[in-house]
Amino acid sequence: MAFLIFTLGLILSPKLIAGNFSYDGNHGPSHWGNEYKTCLGKYQSPIDIEEENVKMFRFPPLQFSGIQNSHKAYMINNGHTVMIQSFDPDVPTISGGPINSTYVFQQLHFHWGQNDELGSEDLINNHSFSMEVHAVFWNKEYGSPDEAMKHPDGLTVLGYLYQVMDKPNPTFESIVSQMPEIATVGSNVTINDDGLLSKLIAPDLTSAENYFTYKGSLTTPPCLEIVQWIDFIQPQYISHEQIAAFRSIQSTDGTNLTHNFRPVQPLDGRTVYRNSGTAETTSATSGAVNTTVTSGTTAPSTGETISTSTVSKQTTAATHPPTTKVTKETETTILSVKSTSTETPTVTPLNDKKGGQHSGQQSMWTLSPFAVIFGIIFLLPYQ
Ligand SMILES: [Zn+2]
Repeated sequence: MAFLIFTLGLILSPKLIAGNFSYDGNHGPSHWGNEYKTCLGKYQSPIDIEEENVKMFRFPPLQFSGIQNSHKAYMINNGHTVMIQSFDPDVPTISGGPINSTYVFQQLHFHWGQNDELGSEDLINNHSFSMEVHAVFWNKEYGSPDEAMKHPDGLTVLGYLYQVMDKPNPTFESIVSQMPEIATVGSNVTINDDGLLSKLIAPDLTSAENYFTYKGSLTTPPCLEIVQWIDFIQPQYISHEQIAAFRSIQSTDGTNLTHNFRPVQPLDGRTVYRNSGTAETTSATSGAVNTTVTSGTTAPSTGETISTSTVSKQTTAATHPPTTKVTKETETTILSVKSTSTETPTVTPLNDKKGGQHSGQQSMWTLSPFAVIFGIIFLLPYQ
């Protein structure tokens, strides 16, 4: 009983539901700095990652632990997003990569847009994706999430980009089917899929070493600059109908939460790295998963200054958005893939984020034949 009360207390905690901010009007991103001064900081997220400016670096293998375990999880409408949490004692942890400690899973949530052409927070070469998932982990050295939030290395957020395709993503079935149960702000439901967390956190271990990483902030108020972002480059897939379900929940002002992404912030001299490491082994012992891959990753294996070999882009105009702020976690990733037929995904140019600060910007992705083949091989399982 005590655990139940504790659990419900956490779920209904004002910290999860509160937050006097929104994505429009007087409390929109451009006003966040009025109430939350940290949203005006120099190292804010999200950002636009321009591949030509990314520095290659060989990081140690990224490691996931406790991923395979089943986890009882809850889905919550906190007024700003759909959040998934688990209070199991053996929630997943991560280590390695660009982080110097073990980080413990705290929560996972989603960012989406008014339509399928936008929704991701981080952009790649000024391209938006349809959705971005953020898995938030706190630094175990600090003993608790609250204490970790007081330190510059307090959080690591894993970011996953999703692009709309014709077929629904099976991972989202339980989320979408139970979405009506969290239509109102503050409502929550137990998810009918004990494997959901693993599917969302590690959708594709074979490409988990292919990521961008940089230091940034929460993408919602108070915009604390305590986040090591790890943005996986390989995009995942979701259907138009599945994303539409997210837009149907209510926001804090009673209207539908049709969008909840913060505009990109100035990079301001920060370096964005791309991991150039590949794995020597794929070992999975005692619950730990080494994500390094034996072959087939798109990341160069030689490290150092290697410009993007898999993706080239054309960009006309790249004015950069201004500023403004907002809350937690964030980051980014890559390719745009759309399926024109039901079977073979084809890579197509992405439209720029429409409206707001991104209007007038044009960009397009083209892929090398190798990248296309690689994409087809690794993306098929996720249709
Ligand atoms: Zn987020």
